[in-house]
Amino acid sequence: MPQVDSSSTTDFIRTIIEDDLKTNKHGERVATRFPPEPNGYLHIGHAKSVCLNFGIAAQYGGTCNLRLDDTDPSGESLEYVDSIIEAVRWLGFDWEDRLYYASDYFEQLYQFAVQLIKDGKAYVCSLSADEIRDYRGTLSEPGKESPYRNRSGEENLSLFARMRAGEFEEGAHVLRAKIEMSSPNVVMRDPVIYRIKKVPHYRTGNQWVLYPMYDYAHPLSDAIEKITHSICTLEFENNRPLYDWVVTETKAEPRPQQIEFARLNMTYTILSKRRLIELVTRGLVKGWDDPRMPTIVGMRRRGYPPESIRNFCERIGVAKNDSIVDIALLEHCVRETLNDTAPRVMGVLRPLRFVIDNYPEGKTEEVEAPRHPQKPEMGSRKVPFSRVLYIEREDFLENPPKKYNRLAPGREVRLRNAYLVKYAGMVKDEKTGAVKEIHGTYDPDTLTGPPKDGRKAEGTIHWVSAAHSLSAEIRLYDRLFTVPNPMGEKDEFTKYLNPNSVEVLATGRVESTLRDAPPGSRYQFERMGYFSVDPDSADEKMVFNRISTLRDSWAKVAGQEKK
Ligand code: ATP
Ligand code: MG
Repeated sequence: MPQVDSSSTTDFIRTIIEDDLKTNKHGERVATRFPPEPNGYLHIGHAKSVCLNFGIAAQYGGTCNLRLDDTDPSGESLEYVDSIIEAVRWLGFDWEDRLYYASDYFEQLYQFAVQLIKDGKAYVCSLSADEIRDYRGTLSEPGKESPYRNRSGEENLSLFARMRAGEFEEGAHVLRAKIEMSSPNVVMRDPVIYRIKKVPHYRTGNQWVLYPMYDYAHPLSDAIEKITHSICTLEFENNRPLYDWVVTETKAEPRPQQIEFARLNMTYTILSKRRLIELVTRGLVKGWDDPRMPTIVGMRRRGYPPESIRNFCERIGVAKNDSIVDIALLEHCVRETLNDTAPRVMGVLRPLRFVIDNYPEGKTEEVEAPRHPQKPEMGSRKVPFSRVLYIEREDFLENPPKKYNRLAPGREVRLRNAYLVKYAGMVKDEKTGAVKEIHGTYDPDTLTGPPKDGRKAEGTIHWVSAAHSLSAEIRLYDRLFTVPNPMGEKDEFTKYLNPNSVEVLATGRVESTLRDAPPGSRYQFERMGYFSVDPDSADEKMVFNRISTLRDSWAKVAGQEKK
């Protein structure tokens, strides 16, 4: 299991767990679970829960189960199950042999319900869904008892068995917990715990037409798996009394305990499976793994390293009140990992031909270039250098402002890892007047050091050899939304999609050392940002995703706050 270094981490959940360990509440056990419903792909919000549950288990020598919480057949599928398993594994966590499906508990859950009926704690209610809602009352008014509330145990058992047998249509009857219609907590007003749903289940097929509700199935699944601490998000706080009621009344042992924490919200992002599905099905993004998506597969394809996501989750911590995290913090964590680990290469996003007039035609030499400026242990690579190069279009200006420390008429710059070159002329397109090609001369004595006469180059620019470099499509990504909180705006959230969230540069060039770079590998294109090889990459044309730019807006923000 990866070390989510939690030695310095503490929070209210860990405090509860440490207290429980001291008082021997669950013996020496700490057992958590991550319980996604397989009705969509996991997103960065789920990653927070994954890191929390697996992180706590690792920290206290406990276990964390991966449980597919698949008790509602509509919208669930094997595709989602597979994607969830893959995502949690990629994030770096290991559930060993503890992969569970709540649907495996259907029979047990049913038997618990039969026992509740026998104990007079549940009844079959034949009100319609609308009537049940009307009878429920409001926050200020108590509810009204269902006329079916006092059915005999025998009648209840028989009806419940017939519901299971498929004798009734959807909505004809439900099973309700018999708690209290006048409870100040609306959740406790005889909640529905089973309903008829004639939808095939992706695992159990047509075996069941009766499905348990989340509030009933979840605590019992926890108890069956001997979970000690059932960590969930804040919206379930009001449901905790029901969670406790279910484990108490079914006498499910050992007794798990629900603890709620604030879900992750992040700026310029939406974290709701339903809305993410909408983006995919309406074709507003290219799929679940579109590199702009906040899904785990999206971030993975973009090139975010899993350790960056783990670091992010650790840094945001867990709290008891909702807040919204700046997406720049996630980007900061990504840069932090990549700055440390990504090998340096040269790639030209928008090429401009550069011809060195005094360099011999047909000659190629290999210049030595370190893979990481601060890490000699990462070694070096040999980059072919020749007479015709490509440089970045933005690294030449005909009429530069004063502080432009790149190439311009009359100026001399260093070619990264190679020679000093001096401007010698330019060729313009006759029709458009655009600069087509630059000419220069090089100083052969400057490959490994500064010129002996002490003159200074204006700056350093990157390059690739025209004949040796590989053609590359380079996809530049920006934030998916134009506003920090797309759900908080008055129009529908899709109105705030950023029309410039992707820009495709079809004519990029990268150094030849990248020829066999496998999909998923990550590099720093010096001066240009961090890039990863996209799975669309092919021999004739490599494809790169920009993971992030080099500049870090979060560091600035954080710096200002400190001042
Ligand atoms: P969504 O709101 O996106 O549909 P969900 O809560 O319905 O998510 P589940 O599959 O039920 O999705 O979630 C699995 C686990 O992940 C739950 O324990 C849930 O509390 C947690 N989780 C979901 N979204 C977030 C989030 N934004 N931040 C933290 N934890 C989350
Ligand atoms: Mg849910």
